[in-house]
Amino acid sequence: MADAQPAPAVVTPAAGPGGPYKVVIVGTGFSGLGMAIGLKKAGVHDFVVLEKADEVGGTWRENTYPGCACDIMSLLYSYSFEPKADWSRMFPEQEELLRYIKDIVGKYELAQHIRFNAEVTGAEYDDATDTWRVTVNGDEVVRGRALVAGMGPLHHPSIPDLPGLSSFAGRTFHSAEWDHSYDLTGRRVAVIGTGASAIQFVPQIAKRAGHLTVFQRTPPWILPKPDRRITGVERTLFRRVPAVQRGYRNGIYLVQESFVLGFKNPRLLRAASSLAKWHLARQVPDRDLRRKLTPDYTMGCKRTLVSSDYYPALMRPNVELTTEAVAEVREHSIVTRDGRTHDVDAIIFGTGFHVTDAFDGAHIVGRNGLRIRDAWKDGIEAHLGVAVAGFPNLFLLLGPNSGLGHNSMIFIIEAQVRYVLQCLAMLDAAGGARISVKPSVQDRFNQWVQRKSEGAVWVAGGCDSWYLDRNGVNRAAWPASTLNFWLRTRRLDPGDFQIDRTVARDETAGSAL
Ligand code: NAP
Repeated sequence: MADAQPAPAVVTPAAGPGGPYKVVIVGTGFSGLGMAIGLKKAGVHDFVVLEKADEVGGTWRENTYPGCACDIMSLLYSYSFEPKADWSRMFPEQEELLRYIKDIVGKYELAQHIRFNAEVTGAEYDDATDTWRVTVNGDEVVRGRALVAGMGPLHHPSIPDLPGLSSFAGRTFHSAEWDHSYDLTGRRVAVIGTGASAIQFVPQIAKRAGHLTVFQRTPPWILPKPDRRITGVERTLFRRVPAVQRGYRNGIYLVQESFVLGFKNPRLLRAASSLAKWHLARQVPDRDLRRKLTPDYTMGCKRTLVSSDYYPALMRPNVELTTEAVAEVREHSIVTRDGRTHDVDAIIFGTGFHVTDAFDGAHIVGRNGLRIRDAWKDGIEAHLGVAVAGFPNLFLLLGPNSGLGHNSMIFIIEAQVRYVLQCLAMLDAAGGARISVKPSVQDRFNQWVQRKSEGAVWVAGGCDSWYLDRNGVNRAAWPASTLNFWLRTRRLDPGDFQIDRTVARDETAGSAL
């Protein structure tokens, strides 16, 4: 038997399972885990991460549809401090991303902080104790001095309320809740939606389905996907000379970031639009099909997609693209507005997520009983996507207007985590109980967001997207460069926040950091 290795130091949270913790984090995706790592690096171990599922991974655990991959390159779509020298492909597939996330959990010894099967069903700020009372699984309470919401903006599947859908006798499921027990081989399958998810799984299921009908409402802009295996030589180089990998990463970042110039000046996207049109013309010789697939709105208005196998999949003899709207679903078929009946065994929804309305049903109550749905009755908004006036010690990651259509969300997550750590440090340094963004600061910031969005491609590009709320207001997209976001979050302006020192409790007193 080998000599026993010294056991790694186990730092257990100071609190019991119900808290109070210094920080309660929700979710184990890139956001929640990024926050957990940030806390540990700052020397804070008194936190818990609540996870509704029985394993970590967020987006990359939930989305397991065939062909699921990230359309941002692996060398960029990773934590800046954990570059991973041995990515197998330029565009990482779901399984490799999930493995990366699990490796991170192991390396940073995060498992001891995570409570699985702990779904957060509500959160209320308790004015008497200056703590968040987080309800788990409907009846248990976990308390924390600060609450960090890392659930991500693309979390609640959206399934359209199609007339007659409940009468459908076949199988239905959403792309984010893929039913792997259902064998699609030889079946007549309908796919509703042609967004980022659908264009990844359509080529995969087209190979198996007997017949596949793709229901398209709006054609996406699609650029060729320059995917390839990362060679052994490159990986060796990355391992031995990390600066080379950093150079690749920075180069990819700059190429992605160049798209932001076009969001305000769509003329600058002409070259990219021409590339997309060339890609379509090259892959789809059929003129009628090409016409259906040609977008009639400005590139960038919706997320621009990358794929080199979607168009060829639509050319297969067993695949049909229909642009007729769905009129009705019957027991074994979908009827389109032109009166045609499409017999189907299964309907797969690639119809995206509730984003701007995701909090409509959420039970989040801030100070003095302020409910988030009341605070947000005119639309969701926060300061830098992180802090909401009236909700002290609550921090959102990837909250309102911090989404990107053109670059890695992990960049934003890392900036927001640093910002939250500064908020907690400031609260600690002041010996305060509550830190809240000033309403005037939040208002000013959101006026800037809307001013920057005016005339930008999401609002004026001639399309509808999940960036916009029901009034056509941009509530999801960050309207400037990621450099701008980094600069704004790099150093917290103490004047933006109010700190209250009325510590009304004894058990959570002490440092937040
Ligand atoms: P999505 O981009 O919002 O696309 C939803 C699709 O469903 C659109 O084609 C939409 O048509 C269609 N649709 C929605 N409601 C419909 C209805 N009632 N009738 C007919 N069609 C309907 O959703 P997603 O593909 O799941 O992607 C969501 C986001 O997840 C993406 O924008 C992206 O940010 C992220 N994502 C990223 C990756 C990645 O590789 N990084 C991969 C997948 C997803 P309209 O266009 O007409 O609304």
